[in-house]
Amino acid sequence: MREQFLCLADFRTEAFSAVFRSQRNPSPTSSRMPLFRLQLIVTNSWQTKSSEEVKDFRAFVRCRQKLDERYQAAAMEANGSCVAGKGASLLTDPAQLIKEVETFLFDVDGVIWRGGKLIEGVPETLDMLRAMGKKLFFVTNNSTKSRRMLQEKFRSLGLDIREEEVFSSAFAAAGYLKSIGFPTEKKVYIVGEEGIQQELAQAGFQYLGGPEDGGKKVLLGTGKNVDFDRDVGAVVVGFDHYINYYKMVYATLCIRENPGCLFIATNCDSVAHIIGQQEWPAGGTMVGSVRASTARTPIVVGKPATFMMDYLANKFNISKSKMCMVGDRLDTDILFGQAGGCKTLLVLSGVTDLKTLNSPENTTYPDFYTNQLPDLLAAKKTMAA
Ligand SMILES: [Mg+2]
Repeated sequence: MREQFLCLADFRTEAFSAVFRSQRNPSPTSSRMPLFRLQLIVTNSWQTKSSEEVKDFRAFVRCRQKLDERYQAAAMEANGSCVAGKGASLLTDPAQLIKEVETFLFDVDGVIWRGGKLIEGVPETLDMLRAMGKKLFFVTNNSTKSRRMLQEKFRSLGLDIREEEVFSSAFAAAGYLKSIGFPTEKKVYIVGEEGIQQELAQAGFQYLGGPEDGGKKVLLGTGKNVDFDRDVGAVVVGFDHYINYYKMVYATLCIRENPGCLFIATNCDSVAHIIGQQEWPAGGTMVGSVRASTARTPIVVGKPATFMMDYLANKFNISKSKMCMVGDRLDTDILFGQAGGCKTLLVLSGVTDLKTLNSPENTTYPDFYTNQLPDLLAAKKTMAA
């Protein structure tokens, strides 16, 4: 049972409460929540709940499963054309979607750019949405860049995006530590890159590791212990193309031997288009290595955990029901949007193709799917007519 809840973290106890609130008052909207997502919402700490609460939850899951089945059947009956996408519909009326949404959250790689190249039509699409008064935010699991570095990347591609409109999982890691009052006299060990360093520094935390440990080696031989800092109170693991055995040893020792040391994962993405068309191992592979050596479940702060969404909803006072998450991955972007109660739009310009969406193994369906973000430009004509 515990294995089903691996991506979850203690800070999500609020989401756990939300499940019970939904149980008392299930609405047609919440009944669209896939069972898998419900499982994701429950925190690791649910096992510490009373047996009565656990029993309630299991009853709720059974009830929700029936609602889901009814919803899916009704949707299929009402719209035979969506059979190809099962629970997802092709976006045929972008104007209507835009009308219903106040805030758009965009994943970046595979949505705004791909392999570092801007997708044609994206600047015009963002301009159109801004002219319509929509708030725009960019939410990425890329932890190699800080918000400032991402802003520079946007600018280098001719997109004028403000720093506060960008959320990276490196920012989420620092934000999470801040949110739990992580003591500033403690240190953070980084298996990751400069983005995490910059965000931790900006949040006032001391850190070590990162690219600086990229060339270090462990000496193998009798009695060759690795010295590690006993003041490390958290290890943050993200994508790290300087990963080496020294870092794995250091992170393992801190987590296993420093009492109370936290294990934080910026994200668990298995693969990504790191520089081009090929899919290469992503942050989840580094997380998996430390997870194996420590037998600990990390606290995940990137998508699909809703830390970044909760942060911006609170900071900018935005209603999640008026948000739409646009992304190219089902297991991060679409689950993230669904976990937060947003509308979701899958674009087929990145990792997920139509074959994957329609595959019998797939259990995650966005509200809509379309080829690429600039398809929203069609709304201009509809609205002008
Ligand atoms: Mg992406």
